[in-house]
Amino acid sequence: MVIFKGTEDISHYLTTQRRLGYNVGFVPTMGALHDGHISLIINAIKICDTVVCSIFVNPTQFNNPEDFQKYPSTLEADIKLLTQAGTDVLFLPDVAEIYPEGTSSLPHYQLDNLEMILEGRSRPGHFQGVCQVMHRLLETVGPCRLFMGLKDYQQCMVVDWLIKDKSLPVQLETLPTFREKSGLAMSSRNMRLDNEQLVLASSIYECLVDLKERLAPGSLISLKNSGVAFLASKGFEVDYVEIADAETLEIENEWNGRKPLVFLIAAFLGNVRLIDNLVMNRGSEGT
Ligand code: AMP
Repeated sequence: MVIFKGTEDISHYLTTQRRLGYNVGFVPTMGALHDGHISLIINAIKICDTVVCSIFVNPTQFNNPEDFQKYPSTLEADIKLLTQAGTDVLFLPDVAEIYPEGTSSLPHYQLDNLEMILEGRSRPGHFQGVCQVMHRLLETVGPCRLFMGLKDYQQCMVVDWLIKDKSLPVQLETLPTFREKSGLAMSSRNMRLDNEQLVLASSIYECLVDLKERLAPGSLISLKNSGVAFLASKGFEVDYVEIADAETLEIENEWNGRKPLVFLIAAFLGNVRLIDNLVMNRGSEGT
């Protein structure tokens, strides 16, 4: 695996790869890698000639400074996992490489309602940061395919919007959420949970499955409220338990029995914020 720290160096290398006829696949991450990240790499290797992974903890997408400071870093183990998986290139930029002119006057992206709801509403500015870093990374790496996890459902929609809005020549491939045996969605933030919290954390998936099983046409309000009550009874501080249109993410309070929906949860265990979702009517995708 070749490691680059500079944007010009990696750009130059990948331009040569493309000229040789290799198609480039890209898996952006913030490190502290787990099997969920590696599943993206493995899928990328199946269909791309040159697979690039980036590790960059992007300061502009953290609305909470403590979350940024405490974000786990396990670089040595990450390099080992990526090498074992067969990754071709690791991009390890620092903040000055990604934002050479600083972070105070970065572009604004017209996300409209997409950043007013759910994660956007709870984490003001988060999706602006996601667009800023993804725009810069996509222009630097120039992949033909981009691999992202449906674990971050709204983020996939934001990046899809960015690709279309900026006419970027890349195809977004979204992949299912990788889970522990308990159902808990793998996440770098799980490293910050103690053993007792790790057991409790699987209640989020339990709640999603229960909501999906009890879904019936008509009002969705009491279903959502029961999800909030269940998680609160397990010791979570619930941010939201929501049900939304799976295509538009519009929040739904009534269901006609046909529209594909997504169930979404964000909740704190101690000071660790966890998110997860479950999509219905899309086969195994997003489960
Ligand atoms: P992160 O390092 O958390 O920014 O995640 C990097 C990429 O890995 C994003 O596209 C995430 O959606 C994806 N990802 C994170 N956790 C999982 C998981 N449990 N299963 C599949 N993909 C994931």
